[in-house]
Amino acid sequence: MDADIQENLERLRERMARAAHRARRSAGEVRLVAVTKTVPQERIAAAVDAGVEILGENYVQEAEKKRAWCGRPVQWHMIGHLQSNKARAAVVLFDAFETVDREKIVLALQRQAREVGKTVEVFIQVNLAAEASKTGASPDQVLPLVRLAAGCDHLRCRGLMTMPPFFDQPEKARPFFAGLRELRDRLRPVCPPNAVLEELSMGMSGDFEVAIEEGATLVRIGTALFGAR
Ligand SMILES: *Cc1c(COP(=O)(O)O)cnc(C)c1O
Repeated sequence: MDADIQENLERLRERMARAAHRARRSAGEVRLVAVTKTVPQERIAAAVDAGVEILGENYVQEAEKKRAWCGRPVQWHMIGHLQSNKARAAVVLFDAFETVDREKIVLALQRQAREVGKTVEVFIQVNLAAEASKTGASPDQVLPLVRLAAGCDHLRCRGLMTMPPFFDQPEKARPFFAGLRELRDRLRPVCPPNAVLEELSMGMSGDFEVAIEEGATLVRIGTALFGAR
């Protein structure tokens, strides 16, 4: 049972490696975040058994249940919108927060992480298309947020994350992926020394190859691994 997961994972890793090589990057530079929203636990367990090392969750409550049975050493990334009143529970559960997009959430994470006695990774989520329907900081808000996070001793600012508008053709997302990389490269020299903007979390099932060609270091994949939701 769930043999398809192992097959899907192998195929996915092959496609990731080929995309990396097209961009003259090494396959080891790109990590997979397996997105588990609505996926039954046996299938998540099968993915972890097959070698998945990072799980991405959109909801604090779902993660709470999953952590209770998934006693395996995996990393948990929060990839959904986070409300500051859930920051306490979230800090206990997650190792990294990919959707940090406002001052209030930076400060809530720092406060809770200090109380819990933990250091968590943060990514600033950028809304490059300025879509009103989407969360994420505008590009000019990114540096102030990075500086704020850099001053928080229980946060490690690791990079940027984006979700481009939905397109049926992955090529149309390319300018947004390139845009996130360019923003990272522009900010890197002016960021505080302890905020190393190395990571670019971008690309999902429909467009991860393009994202890798444009510099993604983390791809967030649900459907291509677990099947349609
Ligand atoms: C659901 C989700 C994904 C994965 O989407 P797929 O198209 O199923 O690969 C990636 N990132 C975020 C933020 C998501 O909510």
